[in-house]
Amino acid sequence: MRKPVLLTPGPTQVPEEVLASASLPIMHHRTPQFEAIFGEAAENLKYIFQTENPVIMLTSSGTGALESSVINLCSPGDKVIAVNGGKFGERWIELCQAYNLDLVEIKIPWHRTVKPEEIEKALQDNPDAKAVFTTLSETSSGGVTDIEGIAKLTRSSSVILVVDAVSGLGVTPLYTDKWGIDVVVSGSQKGFMLPPGLAFITMNEKARKAMETSTLPKYYFDLKKAFKTAEKNTTPWTPAISIIVQLNMALQMMKEEGIENVYARHHKLSEAIREGVKALGLTLYNEDTGDCCIAVNIPEGVDGGKFVKLARDKYQVTFAGGQGSLKGKIFRISAMGNVGPNDVILGLATIERVLAELGYSFEKGKGVAAAMCSLSK
Ligand SMILES: *Cc1c(COP(=O)(O)O)cnc(C)c1O
Repeated sequence: MRKPVLLTPGPTQVPEEVLASASLPIMHHRTPQFEAIFGEAAENLKYIFQTENPVIMLTSSGTGALESSVINLCSPGDKVIAVNGGKFGERWIELCQAYNLDLVEIKIPWHRTVKPEEIEKALQDNPDAKAVFTTLSETSSGGVTDIEGIAKLTRSSSVILVVDAVSGLGVTPLYTDKWGIDVVVSGSQKGFMLPPGLAFITMNEKARKAMETSTLPKYYFDLKKAFKTAEKNTTPWTPAISIIVQLNMALQMMKEEGIENVYARHHKLSEAIREGVKALGLTLYNEDTGDCCIAVNIPEGVDGGKFVKLARDKYQVTFAGGQGSLKGKIFRISAMGNVGPNDVILGLATIERVLAELGYSFEKGKGVAAAMCSLSK
C-alpha cells in the first residue's frame, strides 16, 4: 500500500513514534503512573496555550469544548455576541441558538475575518452582552482573525472573550495571558499532531468566576468538576488514556522545538505553499489568509470536486474541498501537524499533476520550483 499523505486542516499527520505510543498496554487511570503522565501533559499544555491557568482535557472532539464553554459560562436568556464568518463561526451560532441564548450575530463574508472595529461596535450597541464568541483560524476559509486586537476591547471589561483556537493553536501565534484572552478552546487533531478524540479548554479567573453563577444544564461537560479533579492530576470520568499518553509525547516534541519555532515552521511551509500555487497562476480565497489552512480558488473550467478526488485516489495526497457555499469552488491545503518540506513539495507536484489532468494550462514545474525556492530562503 502506498502511504497516504494528509495535507488537510485536520485531522493531520501524526509522527510515527506518537502513533506507536498508543499501542502500549492500557494503563489504569486511577494510578500514580497515569497521574504523572497527566500532570506532565497538563503542565506542557499551559506552555502551548501560553497561560498560567489550568488547561482542562476533555474526551470529545473540539466541538465538545466549544459546547462546554457555552454551557459553563452562560445562563438561560443571556445576551452573547458571536462572529459568523465561516463554517466554524456558524457552529458558535448554532450552539448559542441550541441553548436559547439572546444572540447578537456578527455576520461577515467568508473571504475575510472580523475586524476589531466590528466587535467594538457590537459591544457598544449591546452593553449588556456577557460574552463574545470568535474563531482564531476559520478553517473553512483560511482566514486568521486579529484576536489580539479583539482582546484589547474585552480584557478590562466584564465581557468574556472566548476563542475557538481548535485549528490555530500550536500553529499561529496566540498568547492567551499576554493578550488577555479569557477562554481558549482547542482540539487534538490539528496543530497538536495527534489523532482526534481530545479537546482542551483553559479559563482565566474572570471566566471561572462567571462559571460559578452559570445555570445552563450540564453534567458530563460540567467544568467545575473538571477543574477540581485537574488539581489532583485526574479527570471526573474515564479519560481517553491512550491519547493522553500520545499527547504527552507530542507536547514534549513541541516544547523541545520551542513554541516560536513551531509558529515559524508553519509560516515557512505555508509561505512555500502560497508561493507555489501563485506561481501556477492560482489565487488565494481569503484576504486574511494565515498559516493554518490555505484556501485556493479552483481555476475556471476545472471541476473542484474532481480535483480533490483525483489527488486523493490516484496520488494518495489528501487536500480538503470547500464546505457549504464554497463546495467545488476552493480547495484547502494545510501544513498543520507533522508536515515537512518534502510533503509540501509533494503537495505542489500533486496540484500540478491533477490540474494538468483536468485541462488547466500552466507551465509545468513552475509551482514546485517556486515552493522549493521559497523553502531554501
Ligand atoms: C476542527 C475545528 C473544530 C472542531 O471540530 P471537531 O470536528 O469537533 O473536532 C472547531 N473549530 C475549528 C476552527 C476547527 O478547525
